[in-house]
Amino acid sequence: MGKRKSTAKPPPKKRMDKLDTVFSCPFCNHGTGVECRLDMKNLIGEASCRICQESFSTTINALTEPIDIYSEWIDECERVNNYEDDG
Ligand SMILES: [Zn+2]
Repeated sequence: MGKRKSTAKPPPKKRMDKLDTVFSCPFCNHGTGVECRLDMKNLIGEASCRICQESFSTTINALTEPIDIYSEWIDECERVNNYEDDG
């Protein structure tokens, strides 16, 4: 049995302090172009790209998270793309 070094590894840091509000843009593909904002007063969620100025807004509720707005936007984009492909 050899000597065991006590190399105490620090526990992995979890970064759960902040929700993700920045996403990659489906239009210009900029990795952090899109920012989501939640307007809890008017129950409007808005995602917009600071690079290409594309934006999307939808109604939200108390449980909506920024990622929900973003994925709705992506869904919307795919619907439009599919529609154009058919035409
Ligand atoms: Zn963009």
